[in-house]
Amino acid sequence: MEKVIAINSGSSSLKFKLFMMPTEEVIASGKIERIGIQDSNIDIKYGLGRRYQATMEIANYKIAVAILMEMLIKLEIIRDYMEIDGVGHRVVAGGEYFKQSVIVDDEVVAKIAKIADLAPLHNPANLIGIKAFREALPYACSVAVFDTSFHQTMPAVNYVYSTPYEWYEKLGIRRYGAHGTSHRYVIKEAANLLNRPLEKLKLISCHLGAGASICAVKNGKSYNTSMGFTPLAGVTMATRSGDIDVSAVAYAMNQLNITSINDILDILNKKSGLLGISGVSSDSRDVSVAAKNGNERAQLAMDIFERTVLDYIGQYIAEMGGVDGIIFTAGIGENSSSVRARIVEKLAYMGIELDVQENNKRGINNIISTPNSNVTVMRVMTDEELMIARDVVNLKKQQ
Ligand code: ADP
Repeated sequence: MEKVIAINSGSSSLKFKLFMMPTEEVIASGKIERIGIQDSNIDIKYGLGRRYQATMEIANYKIAVAILMEMLIKLEIIRDYMEIDGVGHRVVAGGEYFKQSVIVDDEVVAKIAKIADLAPLHNPANLIGIKAFREALPYACSVAVFDTSFHQTMPAVNYVYSTPYEWYEKLGIRRYGAHGTSHRYVIKEAANLLNRPLEKLKLISCHLGAGASICAVKNGKSYNTSMGFTPLAGVTMATRSGDIDVSAVAYAMNQLNITSINDILDILNKKSGLLGISGVSSDSRDVSVAAKNGNERAQLAMDIFERTVLDYIGQYIAEMGGVDGIIFTAGIGENSSSVRARIVEKLAYMGIELDVQENNKRGINNIISTPNSNVTVMRVMTDEELMIARDVVNLKKQQ
């Protein structure tokens, strides 16, 4: 038995889940937020429904890690730092360097730093996390798990943009995708539900959360995905625009007197999507309620979101020459029976049939299409942290 901690470091936050492996039991989970900002807070769930919450000053990430480790001891979650055998870090962008998860050494750290521009908001924060934990737990095996690496199996026809080829060769501009850890986790669960080998399946995984991406998975490998060079592309998201004609962006900059690329990117990343269209909220629950109450723009926002998901499903069915299973996961995909129903009902012409009763069940992995349906539709609860912990255990074995 070994203890493995999965870490998701943001610019001012640290989320963690501590697992007992290989049983995959969650020993503790929690987060530290507002690191380096006034009134940082720490929240740890552990044991049978126990919880520790506090507000304190946490000046930087290194101190956050020290406080977290100290609290794990104080709350008797661990007795000694040496009990933690592995630390797995979520890293957003791995570029073309990282085709799978890797054990972190100085060279890996240098490469993650080198490609920071591919995820300027995330990679530097991920690196700070890696460095702080390597210092705090020098004996633990440190592993980097990349959101992009699952998509490194895509064929060039699906990742090269129709721009001058030198952009790809010299600048590394191509589709990288994201959410790979989630897609990788749910396709395994889906193969279990289907009781068929993953290597023989054509699947479409719809990760619909605040960020959303669709992935075509052929024989267990990513074949195409909706996110692009960065997670801005693809379907309509909570606050991100998804796909848009670049000329419209240039025109908007001219018309609105926006001269800074960062300012327009800020609008496309943080003020668009469900929030931008509806003007109500970035949370799909609020937008749905407003739509039900007659708010037309809220209704339009949900319609556009669902239409863009459907666009990709249709595209990927055509590209893969069929599909065996469609998976819904993440906040909206797991919880919104109405979003799932509206999308699946539009696929009725293909002989896809929703099982309304199964679709209305909550909190489980299940098949939500009828036995007669030509394609099996599933709801699967994603668990990126568990996938990270599994990668740590597998890489440690190979050490
Ligand atoms: P992320 O991890 O990308 O921040 P999540 O996967 O947590 O996002 O998804 C957040 C989205 O999930 C929000 O739009 C929220 O409205 C939606 N969501 C969460 N719970 C429910 C629910 N019970 N019913 C419908 N939508 C939900």
